[in-house]
Amino acid sequence: MNKILVTVAIVVLVLTGLVLAFPLQADPQGDKGSLEKITFIHYKDGHIKQVNGNAKPASIACYGFLAKGAKWKTTESYKINPTNSQGLSQELIVNSTDAADANWDNQVAFNIFGTGTVDYSASYNNGNLDGNNTLSFGSISNTGAIAVTTVWGYFGGPVQTRELIEWDMLLDQVDFQWGDATLDPTKMDVQNIITHEIGHSAGMGDLYQIQCAPQTMYGYSTEGETSKRDLDSGDITGIKKLYS
Ligand SMILES: [Zn+2]
Repeated sequence: MNKILVTVAIVVLVLTGLVLAFPLQADPQGDKGSLEKITFIHYKDGHIKQVNGNAKPASIACYGFLAKGAKWKTTESYKINPTNSQGLSQELIVNSTDAADANWDNQVAFNIFGTGTVDYSASYNNGNLDGNNTLSFGSISNTGAIAVTTVWGYFGGPVQTRELIEWDMLLDQVDFQWGDATLDPTKMDVQNIITHEIGHSAGMGDLYQIQCAPQTMYGYSTEGETSKRDLDSGDITGIKKLYS
């Protein structure tokens, strides 16, 4: 019993020490608020929330932000690790990512995404902050999760000081078979999912209202879907508003 108490006390002391020793999350300026992260998990269709069938159809803008005003203020490059267990070519992954990134970039004057370069050491790194924006394949433990994107930045504080500073995307290669769904509709389309996920990297939030299902930022997908490869009206309105 005493041994357990001593162990608990040591753990508490160590954790307290770590918090005191590494106040990395605090912004020295004090005006941006704290460095935070948001993790978006993209699920397969089937989790759809039902809306009341008798409800009057609402006029919905069909776009949302990760945090109002939180966007890139400097253009950063990113790393693509094409390593995968399904024999997907580097060309498919890189071309899909380029197309996804261009879709968002082409809507605004600011260059949101820099160059994507292949780097076989790039890793999701558990969504930890490590100075690299990355895209890679791996395993996501949440059942039905197709992809996860973690975005770091200053999301609190005054809207003008909000800023994105890192993103990391992970595509689940254990539970889903990936490919080009225009060639094989049984596959989870690489470009379709990356266009949605990289929308989070740009500062966009998920949409869950069924009326917003045609949008790229709609929160669910399934095999064979390619409708998210192109942005829809709400996605375009949203990204223009964020980077205006
Ligand atoms: Zn999402």
